Amino acid sequence: MLQTGLMMNRPLLISAVIEHAAAQYRDVEVVSRETHGPLFRYTYADCAKGARKLANALAGLGLAPGDVVGSIAWNNHRHLEAYYGVSGSGMVIHTCNPRLHPQQLIYIINHAGQKAMLFDATFAPLIKGIAPHCPSVKHWICLSDAAHMPAIEGIDPLIGYDALTAPCSDDFTWPEFDENTAAALCYTSGTTGHPKGVLYSHRAIVLEAMAGCMPNVLAVSCRDTILPVVPMFHINAWCIPYGAPMSGAKLVLPGPRLDGESLYTLMEDEKVTISAGVPSIWQGLLAYVEQNQLRFSTMRRTGVGGSAMPQALIARFADEYQVEVRHGWGMTETTAVATMGTLTPRDLALPREQQHAIVARQGKSVFGVDIKVVDEAGATVPRDGSTQGELMVRGPWIVRDYFKGERSPLQGGWFPTGDIATIDAQGTMQIRDRTKDVIKSGGEWISSIDLESAAVAHPAVAMAAVIGVKHPKWDERPLMFIAPKPGQTVDKEELLAFLADRVAKWWLPDDVVFVDSLPVGGTGKVQKEELRKTHGGVFR
Ligand code: ADP
Repeated sequence: MLQTGLMMNRPLLISAVIEHAAAQYRDVEVVSRETHGPLFRYTYADCAKGARKLANALAGLGLAPGDVVGSIAWNNHRHLEAYYGVSGSGMVIHTCNPRLHPQQLIYIINHAGQKAMLFDATFAPLIKGIAPHCPSVKHWICLSDAAHMPAIEGIDPLIGYDALTAPCSDDFTWPEFDENTAAALCYTSGTTGHPKGVLYSHRAIVLEAMAGCMPNVLAVSCRDTILPVVPMFHINAWCIPYGAPMSGAKLVLPGPRLDGESLYTLMEDEKVTISAGVPSIWQGLLAYVEQNQLRFSTMRRTGVGGSAMPQALIARFADEYQVEVRHGWGMTETTAVATMGTLTPRDLALPREQQHAIVARQGKSVFGVDIKVVDEAGATVPRDGSTQGELMVRGPWIVRDYFKGERSPLQGGWFPTGDIATIDAQGTMQIRDRTKDVIKSGGEWISSIDLESAAVAHPAVAMAAVIGVKHPKWDERPLMFIAPKPGQTVDKEELLAFLADRVAKWWLPDDVVFVDSLPVGGTGKVQKEELRKTHGGVFR
């Protein structure tokens, strides 16, 4: 007969994370870029005090456990306090992506039944536009000191964060409750249909934050300084705002300044060792570093995900700058990172180029997450690195139901991701495409991601995107968009010849469109929908 273990059943709660940092790493710094420019710095002990003050302030406004408090904010120290003050009180922090269309923002705020909104001054015009359509929001709180408060017509009173929290006590006893209680809410970007809400539990976030710090994932310790460029307004900034205090790592929050120069300067000044962000951010950073012939003096490692990191970029980081790229995969529905690539001793014995090719895949599942690839009938395909199908995931921090959703998305206990992938014999997963982006040509699949990565290896190409365009004979054929690097040119014939050395002949795009820039959406991904709207015709 099975026996029950005789260990304590202490709940995994988010409030414990910041209290751990305050007790064990009290003097470790949090450095934060204010929305109006200067750097602000304090310690984890101060941050915990700020979170407790906020908890008292929210209770003073009449907010209660279970209430949803939204945020539209950059990565900064007040937002960090909100991560703890809101969730720690038993309320739910609803991180809203400011780059969503205002109609979508209105939809998700109402759908969430949000009672209050914390926002950065940058977003005052956005708030002015949406506030009249969000009747459940009773408190509009600007994350600002008194000197930098915006005036927003129609919002009265407009509450200032510092003015609200300053008079409050920094003594607050965090409530204890079931670890499955909701802590945070984030909506998918809703490229098809309405955005869907993913309601994270304390347990999911704490477990994922621990997993994210493990040596094979981001490897975060008290010797590190970590700068999350990934936004706190989307997918919990990959749980770094929890993992850094958990590990006692110094935390550097870049605020609104995400250009190459600002990031480079902050990394150097604060001696950052680890960062994390989407590939387009690293493209900007590398362009700045290369143009100015700079070096990274402390940066060792960067986590990349959100879209595929081209192999050419991985090679530049690793070979020219000695910065290791850890390429991972995750989605709103997986709380943060679900797979991550770290080279094993076996990989490290291979030539450099082969190592980079392995990093260009999305890695192994993090312990706790199971992955498999299935065919259209739902049967698991072999782990041979070439048989493609839909990626399925399950685990303690993977969504079970959408918030107020009618039907569970699960199929036989697994979450279907909508991504097409392969898994090889070593367990390394590679995203080949999203189901909605893959190009079906003559009954075979062409990976838009592989074509884009091949094009970005061309020295004059800054960004590439490929869409499928209807074709009378082949069903669909690839159409490629190229944004050249500033001041550089490349012509179609040359590019196609370059690609012909890298991909199968029948994969070559039927046409190439040159553009100044590609439309990039709220989460740093190229908006292929936009391209389809303007160029989704038929090849003759
Ligand atoms: P959306 O892109 O709709 O806003 P998410 O922000 O949740 O949704 O992004 C999740 C999606 O991003 C994944 O389903 C996958 O298609 C893509 N993605 C994430 N990481 C990677 C990666 N490393 N390589 C390729 N695609 C990725």
